[in-house]
Amino acid sequence: MNHSLLLKHAEKNFQQLISDLQSLIRQPSVSAKNEGIQECAKLTAKIMKKAGISSQILSLGKGIAPLVFGEVKSRKNTDKTLLFYNHYDVQPAEPFSLWENPPFSGKIIGNKIFGRGSSDDKGELVTRIFAVKSFLDAFGDVPCNIKFVIEGEEETGSANIEKYLRKYKKKFSCDGVIWEFGYVDSKNRPLISLGMKGLLYVELLAKEARQDAHSSLAVLIKNPAWKLVEAIKTLRDTDGRILIKDWYKEVQPLSKTDLKIIKLEPFDENAFKTEYGIKEFVGNKRGLDAKKALVGSPTCNIAGFVSGYTESGAKTVLPATAIAKIDFRLVPKMDPKKQVQRLRKHLMQKGFGDIRVKVYHGEAAARTSPTEPLVSHVKKAADKTFGKSILNVSSAGTGPMHSFVKVLKAPCVSVGATYMFARIHSPNEFARIDLLKKTTKCMCLIIDNFAS
Ligand SMILES: [Zn+2]
Repeated sequence: MNHSLLLKHAEKNFQQLISDLQSLIRQPSVSAKNEGIQECAKLTAKIMKKAGISSQILSLGKGIAPLVFGEVKSRKNTDKTLLFYNHYDVQPAEPFSLWENPPFSGKIIGNKIFGRGSSDDKGELVTRIFAVKSFLDAFGDVPCNIKFVIEGEEETGSANIEKYLRKYKKKFSCDGVIWEFGYVDSKNRPLISLGMKGLLYVELLAKEARQDAHSSLAVLIKNPAWKLVEAIKTLRDTDGRILIKDWYKEVQPLSKTDLKIIKLEPFDENAFKTEYGIKEFVGNKRGLDAKKALVGSPTCNIAGFVSGYTESGAKTVLPATAIAKIDFRLVPKMDPKKQVQRLRKHLMQKGFGDIRVKVYHGEAAARTSPTEPLVSHVKKAADKTFGKSILNVSSAGTGPMHSFVKVLKAPCVSVGATYMFARIHSPNEFARIDLLKKTTKCMCLIIDNFAS
């Protein structure tokens, strides 16, 4: 394979990549609010077609976001298929007031392109599309079969990706999956991540009086906010250890190989703390313990807590309801369904049986073995493009990797263009233009290594 010709085309098409990314950013696609979802699916399919990838919009019916499928069959006699999994939906852009430029502007300032979705995941998506385009432009062919599965519900928890995978199991069949994102650290080293944590997301609702009351009645009427505070306080200790019975029952200790990889993984504690403006970590973890926690510790996090009056000024009110949103990160072998039962039982036993538990979603964790050939194909490509890369046993984040591993039975590796401090899910999200270019080239080499 003539790499210089290939990479020359990646270089040549880069302006087009940026302008396609801007079009994608300018099309809001907020799955949480069903805003612009159909439009963005169509736009994604159009951009792929323009790049030479045959694309098709699949649907599972009303109320479910369409999935964009793309495919390029190699003209070589090969069975090998590499699948790119991405998503076209984005997180809500709120709070708008904290954005320095409108959230769907795609504005370029220096080396950064700003906007919701610029990194997560529209920036990542265009690097894959343009890697494939580079092959088609340079050689009129791809060295292995390529598939794209681009969903529209990732940011709300991929509720239907497993249904899509099951229904289109044959259509999506492949030998390896390149995950939708990958982090690049502050020293420009890409993190090659071999797993993802699972997630259980619940809402806890405490309710007392029929309506809000005058707070002078707090001598008589129980305040559901207090009840919720007390209930939540029983879920974990101040060091982050979850106190629900049997919560860790199925959790396996990290293997020797895992520990070896974790030890090699650089982690700049001070840069991390500076970025977030914090002085210490939960439980005062340091060094290896902090790294082990990121890879292998379950969490119990309060994602939101609302009750009573929170606007400006004072209002002496005794609220009728209190709501908390809680997310639990899970590690391999933890079954979200079983964990919900344990949570309910815990609340019951602690005297909070009347707190309503609503489950938003649950997904299990996934890991790909470091000995899979796909891992070394990716590592080689990343080392060549970026100079150095870092293996990571599991990302601290969550995605539906478990569904891919289970249904498609293919190894999944996460690698990509997302700068670690690109403020994804936050105001002023951006993508670094230099990383978009490098990652496109890296994707070219991954395809080539995978095919040969
Ligand atoms: Zn995201």
